[in-house]
Amino acid sequence: MKIIRFDNNYGRVCTGILDGEVVREIEGDISGTYSPLPNAFRVDEVKILPPCAPTKIVCVGLNYIDHAREMKMSPPDEPLLFLKPPTAVIAHEEEIAYPNHFSSRVDYEGELGVVIGKRARWVNERSWREYVLGFTCVNDVTARDIQVKDVQFTRAKAFDTFAPMGPVIETELDPADLEITTRVNGETMQRSRTSNLIFPVPRLLAFITRIMTLLPGDVITTGTPAGIGPMRPGDTVEVEIEGIGVLRNTVRETEFN
Ligand code: MG
Repeated sequence: MKIIRFDNNYGRVCTGILDGEVVREIEGDISGTYSPLPNAFRVDEVKILPPCAPTKIVCVGLNYIDHAREMKMSPPDEPLLFLKPPTAVIAHEEEIAYPNHFSSRVDYEGELGVVIGKRARWVNERSWREYVLGFTCVNDVTARDIQVKDVQFTRAKAFDTFAPMGPVIETELDPADLEITTRVNGETMQRSRTSNLIFPVPRLLAFITRIMTLLPGDVITTGTPAGIGPMRPGDTVEVEIEGIGVLRNTVRETEFN
């Protein structure tokens, strides 16, 4: 099932199930009990919103061995974590604002996102699935020059618009071996499979929930494969994950107001 959040064109945030080109609205708690409404919309006639409203985005760095190599870093012996703020989230087809007041090197990072469905603390690796609503595409946009300069990651990863995610949450998916592809202006820049993750999704759930409580709507973004590179204003970036869909965003100059 593909869950989509959208604006019904009258400013109301709605949740629906995407069925081909049609969105069927539901009411209730998508992670709990909900029921269908009679309302249906063509997906190309609504504004798609971010698929969830996280309280935090927990990001995993250096989680593909080939990416660790290209960064000239040793693969970590336990997951390397950092956070992105919820204010960085944008939806499918919204614009990434290039922060040219601070950076001249802004990179895409295509990643599998895990959306939490149920409050999670001390999760056992074997029961991880009951805490996960589903999976989405994430672009962990990164000001690479600032990441190098600052050493710690907050500024480089936290600009408004630096967490595009969507377009949907796919609830029926095994995350163990999915193809992940990133394209810039149609050219493939990253292509890998989630089977190459150093720390797979069950391990990440167990590890992170030994540190912090994850709440419904929170997102874990699982790391990017090799092939990272820069984007420029005017570029269109797509992250595609098998079974989920294509997250597409264009890059523009930041407006200073
Ligand atoms: Mg990343």
